[in-house]
Amino acid sequence: MNDCIFCKIVAGEIPSQKVYEDDYVYAFKDIQPQAKVHVLIIPKVHISSVNELEDSHKELIGHIFISAGKIAEILGVKESGYRIVNNCGKDGGQTVNHIHFHMFGGEPFGWPPF
Ligand code: 5GP
Ligand code: ZN
Repeated sequence: MNDCIFCKIVAGEIPSQKVYEDDYVYAFKDIQPQAKVHVLIIPKVHISSVNELEDSHKELIGHIFISAGKIAEILGVKESGYRIVNNCGKDGGQTVNHIHFHMFGGEPFGWPPF
């Protein structure tokens, strides 16, 4: 049995505020937004983290980033700009073990982020 909350969101078993969906990708609003715009972009298939990526995922990861541009347009941040973040593992601050890309926007951000 798959206890992954993001797999359950993709399956519609946990409700989410969908922003974008296609055959491979699902994007939805973060439940605890850390910026005016905060969306999570995930593959529909379960991959735990960047550490589990394989050569067979090349096309999928490329597709996610191409989708990100479309999602930015939907969210109205394409021109103003945005930040895409992946947290990996404990030190990276990953709390959900289904690979995901945060999209932050709607306001300017500083750098470095820590
Ligand atoms: P991480 O810390 O793993 O990079 O990010 C996980 C993100 O998932 C967090 O920003 C957290 O707020 C979000 N999150 C956790 N559970 C849920 C949920 O059930 N629904 C939604 N929409 N977001 C969630
Ligand atoms: Zn999953």
